[in-house]
Amino acid sequence: MILSDPGPAVVCGDRPHSTATTPMRLLSFAVIFLASCAGTSSHCDPEFRISASTPELSEVLADSVPPALRAVDTLPARRHVREIVIHAIEVPGTGYRGGSLPAEGSMELHFGSELRTHGWVVVRFLLTHELVHLHLPEVWRKRLPHCVEDGLADAIGLIADPEARHYRLAEYVDALRPVFKDPELLESCRSGFDLDLATYVALDRERLVRLVAFGYTLVVCIGIPGIESLVERAEAEGVERIPLDWFLEAFRGQDLPIEDLPLMDCYVTINQLRTKP
Ligand SMILES: [Zn+2]
Repeated sequence: MILSDPGPAVVCGDRPHSTATTPMRLLSFAVIFLASCAGTSSHCDPEFRISASTPELSEVLADSVPPALRAVDTLPARRHVREIVIHAIEVPGTGYRGGSLPAEGSMELHFGSELRTHGWVVVRFLLTHELVHLHLPEVWRKRLPHCVEDGLADAIGLIADPEARHYRLAEYVDALRPVFKDPELLESCRSGFDLDLATYVALDRERLVRLVAFGYTLVVCIGIPGIESLVERAEAEGVERIPLDWFLEAFRGQDLPIEDLPLMDCYVTINQLRTKP
């Protein structure tokens, strides 16, 4: 999810709806506050302030905070965030748009109203995804390519919201399908692996989702401890950004988790990248 106002710490996989959130509009929102220190985490959790365009959306988000925080706790390290401000807006159409500003502890989420007919199935997933961005330590954010950070946020989002798996994997498979018919697109996965933030956030939707699918597959195969080892190695060796080759090396011989079998073609493609320097 991506905000159009690219501060140095904004990293996401989607762009927001063009509708701006004005202070006047927020006044009409249902606003709730959630206390910190839920007791389910090993340390004090942040306080939440949720402004949503409907009471129903407020309620769904509030219910999603505890499982989202438990999932975020799977990160080996967390940046301390004192307060999180969430603005959630229901907009016409399908899908979602969202963005987070880690430095400010704020996020804006736009949910297509058609998601309501499916019980807001992806709300918890998207909330968790953005919470990963907010809590990711700076050393991780600096060293992970953006598509891997988004893949990590998706992987943890699906821990909090397993019901969103079908929805998210279907998006991945759709975006990846052209890759398997076009060798140049395969190569674009390599060349697009570590784009600068401005280029990454300006990608068209399909290419963006394709790169996140690529990052997600690397993360679920290597595992979060494996990603942590790469971050530590980069830190020890003074490498600013972890190169693709390190991920491919860590990927070698790892299995695709059975629940991610729809991404088998992506898994095979990464193996091809590994064997074709
Ligand atoms: Zn993101």
